[in-house]
Amino acid sequence: MMIVGGPDRTAAALLAGEIPCPDCSAQLRPHGYTRTRTVRGLDHARLTVQPRRAHCAGCGRTQALLPVAWAVHRADTLEAIRIALAAKAAGGGYRTIAAHMGRPLPTVRRWFRRVPEAHTYWLYKQVKQRAFRHDPDILVRPKQWPSLLGWSLNILAGATLSYEQRVDDDLPPWSSIGLFTRGELLSSPLRT
Ligand SMILES: [Zn+2]
Repeated sequence: MMIVGGPDRTAAALLAGEIPCPDCSAQLRPHGYTRTRTVRGLDHARLTVQPRRAHCAGCGRTQALLPVAWAVHRADTLEAIRIALAAKAAGGGYRTIAAHMGRPLPTVRRWFRRVPEAHTYWLYKQVKQRAFRHDPDILVRPKQWPSLLGWSLNILAGATLSYEQRVDDDLPPWSSIGLFTRGELLSSPLRT
């Protein structure tokens, strides 16, 4: 599986032969679609998506091209998870946040367990680097946060919006969170 940008731009790039194979760098070619999947967004919105599939003539492998907006952790969008983490960084308890977002308690508790200190520090470094590359102004006078997680999420939000406005406006709002965190807004269970 490959994480790619907005769906329209990806389709155009794939047809034009502009997406290289992650394994051998040969050109990928369109190869139908993968199965349909449904993810939960904010306010119980359901998002049904069918990622494109591509075939590599070089190594013969097939790749599913998953747009960043649909990169998910346990069936929830990264946007929903970002909001829950921001509420936590602002001092919210998981019960309140779960109730407010209409998510089961164990789900929210699991998200929070997957941002231990080491991962928060990793996020901070990723986000700072990306923000610096795309829009250093964001780092000039950041809002003061009592925690590193809050600071990181705040910069992440600024960098995401700036990237989507300036670089890839085909992306749905907030979807480049996946790009900026390399798909790991939450740490993978193995790394914690
Ligand atoms: Zn290949």
